[in-house]
Amino acid sequence: MGEQIGSIKGMESLRELYKIGYGPSSSHTMGPERAARLFKEKHPQADAFKVTLFGSLALTGVGHRTDYIVEKTLQPAGVEIIFDPVTGDLPHPNTMDMEAYRDGELLDRWRVLSVGGGAIQIVGQGWTPPARVYPHSTFEEISTYCRKKRMTLWQYVEEVEGPEIWQYMKEIWHTMQEAVDDGLEADGELFGGLHVQRKAKTLYRKRHIDESAEIRENRLVCAYAYAVSEQNAACGKIVTAPTCGACGVIPAVLNYVQERRGFSNEAIHHALAVGGLIGNLIKTNASISGAECGCQAEIGSACAMAAAALASLYEMDIDQIEYAAEISIEHHLGLTCDPIRGLVQIPCIERNAVAAMRAINATNLANFLTDTRKISFDLVVQTMYETGKDLSHRYRETSEGGLAKLYE
Ligand code: SF4
Repeated sequence: MGEQIGSIKGMESLRELYKIGYGPSSSHTMGPERAARLFKEKHPQADAFKVTLFGSLALTGVGHRTDYIVEKTLQPAGVEIIFDPVTGDLPHPNTMDMEAYRDGELLDRWRVLSVGGGAIQIVGQGWTPPARVYPHSTFEEISTYCRKKRMTLWQYVEEVEGPEIWQYMKEIWHTMQEAVDDGLEADGELFGGLHVQRKAKTLYRKRHIDESAEIRENRLVCAYAYAVSEQNAACGKIVTAPTCGACGVIPAVLNYVQERRGFSNEAIHHALAVGGLIGNLIKTNASISGAECGCQAEIGSACAMAAAALASLYEMDIDQIEYAAEISIEHHLGLTCDPIRGLVQIPCIERNAVAAMRAINATNLANFLTDTRKISFDLVVQTMYETGKDLSHRYRETSEGGLAKLYE
C-alpha cells in the first residue's frame, strides 16, 4: 500500500472482504480474536499468554473490547494484557505482540498487524497472505477488460471467483438481513457507559401521519442502518462491509430497495459482488482501516460500495457505477475517526445512516450526470489514501481528538 495506484498486482477474493463475525470492531475485535485463536491453536500446551497492545489497539482497545475478546479466546490459560500507547514507530497503527509460555519458559512470540476489515498479517512465521485471485487491481483495468469482453461487473466477479461465489453471497445477504431484523426488534441501552439508547425500532415504527414518500424513504433507510450498527455496537453478528464500524450502510440500502422494488435475492447477490469489487479496490490500493486513514476509509468506502451496488442493481452502465462510487468517496474525503470513549457508537451509528442516504443520492446524481465527470474512481481512491496519511494521528481511531476529546 501507499505506492502509486495499480502498483500492486491483483486482488484477494471477496471472501476476504465480506466476513461474518461479531462486533463491535473488525480491526480491534475480529482481527485480534482471529490472531489469538491461531496463536492458541499453534500452542495448545501453553499455560500462560502475554499480549501487548500498541497504538490504536491500546488507545481504543477497551471501548472496542479488544482486551475482552483476546482474553476470552486465549483462556483457560492465564492471560496478561498490557496496554502500551507510548511505543511509536510501529509497522501499523494496530500492532499487537503475543507471547506463549509453559512453566514460565517462552515458547513463541508473534507480532500481528490487524490491518482492517478483520484481516491480519503475522510478521515472520512463514505466514502466507491470502492469494490474489483477481488479475486486475484498478477500476480502469477492470472496466477495460469488461468492455472488451462485453460483460458486467458481477459477471466479471463470477468469472474470477467461480459460480461458488453466489453461495457465499447468499450467506452474506442472509446474515445482513438477520442483522436488520434483529436490530429492529431490540431496544434498551448499549453497553459502555455513554447511555446511548437504541433507536432503530423507534425510527422504524414512528411514522408521521402526513409522511411524504421521500421522508418515508429516509426514515426506513436510516432505521435499517441503525438496526445493523446497533447490533454491531452490542457485539452482535454482522458482516464486515467493509468493516464492523461501517457495517450498516450496505444492508440499509439494499434492504430498502429490495422491499421497495421487489428485487430478487439473486439480483441482490450480484449487487453485493459489485459493491465488494469496489471495497476490494479500496482495500488493495488504499485502506479500509479507520486507524490508518480515518473514517473516510470506513464509512466513505461503505458508501461507495453501497452506491455501486445500487447502480448495478438499477442496471446502470460501468461508467455510471464508477461515478456513483467516486462521488461517494469524494464527499467523504477528510472524514475523521474520533469515536467517543473508543466505543463504536458516537459518531459511528448515526454516520452509517447518513452514509446510506448519501449512497442513494450519489447513485441518482451519477445517473443524471455521467458524461460530465472529470475524476476517476482510481484517482479518488489514491486521494483518499494520501489524505488519510496526512491526517493527524488524533483523528485515526485513537480517541485523542475531535468529538472524543471535546465531549463531556
Ligand atoms: S468513527 Fe468511523 S472509522 Fe472510527 S470507529 Fe466509528 S465508524 Fe469506524
